[in-house]
Amino acid sequence: MAYRHIDSQGNNIALSVGKVLCIGRNYLDHIQEMNAVVSEAPLLFMKPKAALCYMQKPIAIPTDKGECHNELEVAVLLKEPLKNASNDDVKAAIWGIGLGLDLTLREVQAKLKAQGQPWERAKSFDNSAPLSGFVPISKVNNLDDLRFTLAINGKIRQTGHTELMLHKVIPLIAHMSSQFSLDSGDVILTGTPKGVGELLPADRVEASLEGHLAVSTEVIAE
Ligand code: ZN
Repeated sequence: MAYRHIDSQGNNIALSVGKVLCIGRNYLDHIQEMNAVVSEAPLLFMKPKAALCYMQKPIAIPTDKGECHNELEVAVLLKEPLKNASNDDVKAAIWGIGLGLDLTLREVQAKLKAQGQPWERAKSFDNSAPLSGFVPISKVNNLDDLRFTLAINGKIRQTGHTELMLHKVIPLIAHMSSQFSLDSGDVILTGTPKGVGELLPADRVEASLEGHLAVSTEVIAE
């Protein structure tokens, strides 16, 4: 079934499905675990429409391209287009928030990095962005005070808090809109905290956005 945006109750959201804008290296603890350096300007990349799929369905990962890693991130769904937006424009353009996995073929990425090549082969493959349903922004008090957790087979692997982002949600999206036109139906993935690791077929995955939503799912081979 083709992906459509849904809310956290499973109802369709009347927005077309767009692209995904992502930021790398937005949490210091993840930068440290990757032995990477803090980027001066935000490190941006994209995933195409075909990357989108449902997190609550079994997550199908490639098994012939080396390790596929979890990166649990807060996802933001836009309901209005944005270009050179102010922070206020961004606030008015958010439909809601959810969770997304920025699935990453880590060994492929390491090779691309070593060769100075772009990351699409590692991050922008089909079904590389499983998304939860979205909670309307009216239910969210503070985008800079969101806690989220990923457990694999009952063990906590990632915990994040959006106050620790180097680039916070609203200014990050404003900056993205200065580089690329954003559309209604586009999704922003806001970066991963530490705790990335290999996913394997049959892993049980539990992702939660504290006070807002929880997803239980499993990993299968593509
Ligand atoms: Zn990521």
